[in-house]
Amino acid sequence: MSRLETVRTVPGLRARLDTWRGQGDSIALVPTMGALHAGHLALVERGLALAERCVVTLFVNPKQFGPNEDFAVYPRDEQTDARLLEEAGAHLLYAPTVDSMYAEGHATKVSLSGVGEVLEGNFRPGFFDGVATVVAKLLIQALPTVALFGEKDYQQLQVIKRLVQDLDIPTEIIGVPTVREPDGLALSSRNAYLTPTERQAAPTLQQTLLEVARRFQAGDSPADLEAWGMDQLQKVGFGTVDYISLRDAATLEPVSAPGDRPARVLAAAWLGKARLIDNVAA
Ligand code: AMP
Repeated sequence: MSRLETVRTVPGLRARLDTWRGQGDSIALVPTMGALHAGHLALVERGLALAERCVVTLFVNPKQFGPNEDFAVYPRDEQTDARLLEEAGAHLLYAPTVDSMYAEGHATKVSLSGVGEVLEGNFRPGFFDGVATVVAKLLIQALPTVALFGEKDYQQLQVIKRLVQDLDIPTEIIGVPTVREPDGLALSSRNAYLTPTERQAAPTLQQTLLEVARRFQAGDSPADLEAWGMDQLQKVGFGTVDYISLRDAATLEPVSAPGDRPARVLAAAWLGKARLIDNVAA
């Protein structure tokens, strides 16, 4: 296991990548906000399978948090993250400071209509502008061969695929299946906000989505299924269900019945202090 190098500036990142590219190595990029778990490490593993070099970025991006969201308390532990990445075989950690990513006078925003406006875009105003802006910057800074994103954040994955296509960024975007706890709860840094009782109720989110997907294929209407799903969640202790919705898997437009194109069922719901999101194929 070689020692993992950390760089914090764009010139530092580019110098390292230029050396590798000069040797003919391809580059995989894994953007994260740290607090790493097995879900992030699955992206690293896939990156290492697809490219000679795997670069992980660690940046808690203030622009994707709303004023009442958890930016200040978001878990941060770079040392542990670096150790996990070293063990996983990643080659470089890029951990820029907020000031270097958004220098004095920073004025550019990347904003997507359509796929960026619905669902999460609707409930978290400005969220996808923040995500799209930072991911566009990271991709332009590193110009990786491939970049890996989790299906856990399914809408984010579609936003990034759209962004890369629209801006002609020469990187292939790869989606990686959601890594789950044995009881089905999707791994997330925010699961740490759950009390033991809430943690017991949390797997109902995936179970409900799987049942909605099954019934959708069997011919039930999206409106009925969405109402049924909300009821299931609230019965086990979830609070506000922001949405549970059947969508076209690529455009995220509403679907009315199973068709030729793949569908997806996505949900966001509050459980105590945690806002959980999840999705499955429908
Ligand atoms: P985050 O640090 O939460 O912004 O996530 C960084 C990347 O890891 C994103 O592409 C996420 O979709 C992905 N990710 C987070 N949790 C999981 C999970 N449970 N399974 C797979 N990928 C995940």
